[in-house]
Amino acid sequence: MHKLLRLLVLLAPVMAWGQAAQPKIIDAHIHHNGEISFLRKLAARLRAADAMGLLITAPKDLDSVKSFMEQNPNRLAGLGEIKLDDPNAVELVDRFHAAGFPGLGELTRPLRRYDDRSYWPIYARAEQYRMILLFHTGIVNRTNPNVPEDVSIDRMRPTTLDLIARRFPKLTIIGAHLGNPDYDHAAEVARWSPNLYFDLSGSTLIKKSPDFTFFNSVFWWSAVASPHTPKSKTHAFEKVVFGSDIFGGEIEEFDRTLANYRKMLDACGVPPEAQANIMGGTVWRILRAQRQ
Ligand SMILES: [Zn+2]
Repeated sequence: MHKLLRLLVLLAPVMAWGQAAQPKIIDAHIHHNGEISFLRKLAARLRAADAMGLLITAPKDLDSVKSFMEQNPNRLAGLGEIKLDDPNAVELVDRFHAAGFPGLGELTRPLRRYDDRSYWPIYARAEQYRMILLFHTGIVNRTNPNVPEDVSIDRMRPTTLDLIARRFPKLTIIGAHLGNPDYDHAAEVARWSPNLYFDLSGSTLIKKSPDFTFFNSVFWWSAVASPHTPKSKTHAFEKVVFGSDIFGGEIEEFDRTLANYRKMLDACGVPPEAQANIMGGTVWRILRAQRQ
């Protein structure tokens, strides 16, 4: 293929949203259930909310998702679902990148800790592409308690993201679920790493709903000027990004999580500009910067 033409083809999905207006909301954590009917309903819901979604896509669904995205520009961007223990993981990173996917995820259930050196070639390749990596952190379900499994939440602690964020500074890392219940460690590692964020999807906002102001003790450093906290003009809560963790086709989770995020942020007195960044501005800037 002619060189310029090849470049245009490569850039096509990028340009689609690269030139678009900023959506009000970006949901950075949506699981595809593999059905096209779900994508149609999801796109309609996102359109109605002036929202965009990062869609967690299995390799088997790559082609169908890619063509759906082309037919529905600016509504979805892809997170390629890989397993850290898959011997073909690095090749899959290339494949998802070539398809225009800005990130990978949700990484979960590893056989070793997330920061284990055997996974570094995967992180290094993703860093070359300036990708967003969505990691599951904290407690995880037991889908069938009668079946033996090699899974431990200890390998998915939020502190395991600290080394990855430092060693691969051009990655953007999102830890899902704020490390439930390890909120303090999650927020503290994010405080010192500009490339590390967390979402608050899952049971945390339900558990903490009787006292949403609890999160002021976790994201405590907004008004603090001290050599012991990094110089940043952003609000402490801006270490949070919006993610709903829709899975199994449950689109209602988008509205439920959105409502809980807003209640919590209002209860904590987070100013509107910071809330706008949490809801979409931060991820939008990351997506745009990736293409420069
Ligand atoms: Zn998760």
